[in-house]
Amino acid sequence: MIRIGTGYDVHRLVENRRLVLCGVEIPSELGLLGHSDADVAVHALMDAILGALALGDIGKLFPDSDPQFKGADSMKLLAEVISLMERSGFSLGNLDITIIAERPKLAKYIPAMRERLAAAFGCDISQISIKATTEEGLGLAGAGIGAQAAVLLTK
Ligand code: MG
Repeated sequence: MIRIGTGYDVHRLVENRRLVLCGVEIPSELGLLGHSDADVAVHALMDAILGALALGDIGKLFPDSDPQFKGADSMKLLAEVISLMERSGFSLGNLDITIIAERPKLAKYIPAMRERLAAAFGCDISQISIKATTEEGLGLAGAGIGAQAAVLLTK
């Protein structure tokens, strides 16, 4: 059996916050605002996995209102979602993430991001695709960073 899921998320860029994408800290004057570490790419990915499993979304699983998740490491939340996926009998076929950012330039950090996600899933790096794009200054990216994710799960 195969299941597909998609996820989408956006966070605002602000001063005095770290910028963490796919578990990799990226040097930047601005970081993403959020209740957790605001790793927008991992948030979109978790929603894609939960979507494939028809188990709701991360807001349901890890509510903003819960102080337990304040400043949470999104990679730890991802580990919980992966364990849910495994308990449902599924494993990752492949995933594909697009990060939408005007700045900073992300290309040189993408290999490290792919390694972090491959380690989180315990899968081959060839199953993990991460891309970055801008919106040519026309969209929301600039004031924030967005991410879209698609996953295929198999059992
Ligand atoms: Mg989010």
